[in-house]
Amino acid sequence: MNILSLLKRFVPPYKWQVAANLFFNVLSTVLSLFSFATIIPVLQILFGLSEGTAAYMPLGAAATMSDTLDILKNNLYYFLQTQIEIRGAQSVLLLLGACLVLLTGCKCLTAWLANYFMVPIRTGVLRDLRAQLYKKVVSLPIGFFTEERKGDVMSRMTNDVNEVEASIMSTLDMLFKDPIMILVYLITLFTISWQLTLFVLVLLPVAGLLIGRIGRSLKRASTKGQEQNAEILTQIDETLGGLRVVKAFNAESKLTVRFLHLINATRATFNRINRRYYLAHPVSEFFGTALIAILLWFGGTLILGEHSSIDAATFIYYLVIFYSIINPAKDLSKATYGIRRGMASLERIDKILNTESNIRMAENPKQIADFQSVIRYEDVCFSYKADRPVLKHINLDIKKGQTVALVGQSGSGKTTMADLLPRFYDTTAGRITIDGVDIRDVKTYDLRALMGNVNQEAILFNDTFYNNITFGVESATMEEVRHAARIANADDFIMATPDQYQTTIGDRGSRLSGGQRQRISIARAILKNPPILILDEATSALDTESEKLVQEALENLMKDRTTLVVAHRLSTIRNADLICVLHEGQIVEQGTHNELLAKNGYYRRLVDMQQANA
Ligand code: ADP
Ligand code: MG
Repeated sequence: MNILSLLKRFVPPYKWQVAANLFFNVLSTVLSLFSFATIIPVLQILFGLSEGTAAYMPLGAAATMSDTLDILKNNLYYFLQTQIEIRGAQSVLLLLGACLVLLTGCKCLTAWLANYFMVPIRTGVLRDLRAQLYKKVVSLPIGFFTEERKGDVMSRMTNDVNEVEASIMSTLDMLFKDPIMILVYLITLFTISWQLTLFVLVLLPVAGLLIGRIGRSLKRASTKGQEQNAEILTQIDETLGGLRVVKAFNAESKLTVRFLHLINATRATFNRINRRYYLAHPVSEFFGTALIAILLWFGGTLILGEHSSIDAATFIYYLVIFYSIINPAKDLSKATYGIRRGMASLERIDKILNTESNIRMAENPKQIADFQSVIRYEDVCFSYKADRPVLKHINLDIKKGQTVALVGQSGSGKTTMADLLPRFYDTTAGRITIDGVDIRDVKTYDLRALMGNVNQEAILFNDTFYNNITFGVESATMEEVRHAARIANADDFIMATPDQYQTTIGDRGSRLSGGQRQRISIARAILKNPPILILDEATSALDTESEKLVQEALENLMKDRTTLVVAHRLSTIRNADLICVLHEGQIVEQGTHNELLAKNGYYRRLVDMQQANA
């Protein structure tokens, strides 16, 4: 991606600011030209170069634009000469000095105004990028986040966005200003002396080539640096998440060594990046000065020659302008370096932005407002990775009002089967229907509105009890929330907290016990009041005491609903209408508790095993 397409992608929403910025940049550049121009008469006075040659000329005599300019210039000299004669050279120098200060003041003001309009573009682009990323991340299917590591995604959303800000957005002002300055200055240089300017331009590509080469290697190093940054975040995330285990296994030093290793490697990469980055300035400064030296020689030869097209004072002015090109040229080369650096990050960000969700939205979604009769798994096959089937030819009917339980060894595919229903993943073959409608033909929003989830790990947010319970509904009264909490056995302990329902629960509910967290998530499901429930080992992480309270809450929740329950503890699903035993991705037995016991097969063995452990 080059600079132009970069601008085209991000800047369009800010065209007014861009226009204002460009306007003030042009103004500022022209003003700087005028302020430099005051040096010509100053030099002429100091060196006594022009001796009373000018006479007043009326403007009306001008035929062309350049004539007008010449006349204006001539009249200015005439004015200065008469002033020198009347007031003396010193006062005129003072006057010229005042002009310089005034013009420079105006120039500085317009330069600031240009940046004034630049700032909202920078911050705006950054905000847009963050918003795009966040929306994308929220919309991507769950499968994406098991493939990509969380730390890496986080790094792309933070480190890489910051890098784009630091290296692309911070050079945006240069990108807008410098080309204008360089162009205006070059035009001026051409009008002063095209021979000199042509001569200089021939020398420029050499410098350009070198700068481009360094830029490319910079991008390569930057990609590596950002990958290492992501790894740092991943390791921090892992460490914080697993701190309990780290301490219990005395693995602090082991992890620290691993981390130090990584940050040292990262440091080495950024040493390389920054050292190369700092080449931009000296390289362009060196070339600039070398050019000036060559110019001095070439220009001097011109002036000392017979038929010089410019005088010494104008040559000095020429040099001043030329020197003024060097700064924007330096900045511009720095900006291109910065963009190279930032481009590496932008590509990493784009990797997320361009990820297509593999959960396709139906083109003409069918309406599904309610659940009437039956959920049907029809010959469902599924695999996470191409050659490893996780579910094989699953057929299952879940009739309205029934409780259907999935049991089986860990890894047999129970969670996977439950995840297919709200379309966290799509089936590899076969289909799932609700009342005869393929779930891929309805809006995922409508589909998920029919379902409530309670999982092994209650997922809570760092917010109040109230907001955690009302998470899935648009509006709820306090009375409804309390009612839901009461049914979920959660009201008592919530009311015992200092701010009751307005108490904040801490990071992911860390101040609550497992059972309390689970009851909050049950209250949330009760309040949402969905016709279909998916319970995935909702009680298996709990001790017996809190399990009883949660089990009771769950039974309240399951009343009058259709439930798909994945159970670890078989005692909890004894009363299910249908129990399916999953083994290596297949339903190997199904029936009621008593039927299955009588079969003396897989289910019997599972029950016996649990009783032996109890
Ligand atoms: P259960 O819930 O019965 O314990 P799961 O449905 O979680 O079993 O897992 C079934 C199989 O699928 C297991 O072999 C597991 O390793 C695999 N699996 C689960 N999730 C993923 C995933 N995100 N990517 C790849 N394989 C997975
Ligand atoms: Mg599971």
